[in-house]
Amino acid sequence: MFRGSQRKEPPRDDLFDIDAAHGIIKRKTDGIRVLALGSVGWATLEKELTTTFVSGAAVILQRMGYSYGRYIGRVAKTQQKGQGDALESLQRAARESGWGELLLNGGDLATGQARLVLRNCVFCLHIKEASEPVCYVLGGLIGGVVDEVIGATHRILEEKCTAKGDAYCEVIVERVG
Ligand SMILES: [Zn+2]
Repeated sequence: MFRGSQRKEPPRDDLFDIDAAHGIIKRKTDGIRVLALGSVGWATLEKELTTTFVSGAAVILQRMGYSYGRYIGRVAKTQQKGQGDALESLQRAARESGWGELLLNGGDLATGQARLVLRNCVFCLHIKEASEPVCYVLGGLIGGVVDEVIGATHRILEEKCTAKGDAYCEVIVERVG
């Protein structure tokens, strides 16, 4: 049903060095320090943002995701020498950051029209019975990576969400203009 990208190397599962004595976790591939957030604590943070800012919380969360996504895209372009692969960059980030398993469910990011599915989404893991999709951070992350790597503006439409009873979270990516 879903197409993943063909990987040359199997995904690593020994990504981090943990120095518990000094409170330091580093990613092995680049030595960058990592901040680990628990999913229940994350859900609490989202809930409190929504209580405080109401619909403004969605904008804040989307912008947080978007900024971080642009950063991921910039790093990917440097590593892939300007020939960034937006899907591969997103899939790798999702695997290595614990977002979930990201898959292509039709279309092609290169042509500006694609559906991306996130299985085991961490962003809405503890949100139940939502009436609309709530993965604002995910939408922002995808938009940020795709805009940066492809160099055009894209609209992200959240269509399915585990929080509203769907089997997985799904967004539609559409190039604008
Ligand atoms: Zn989700």
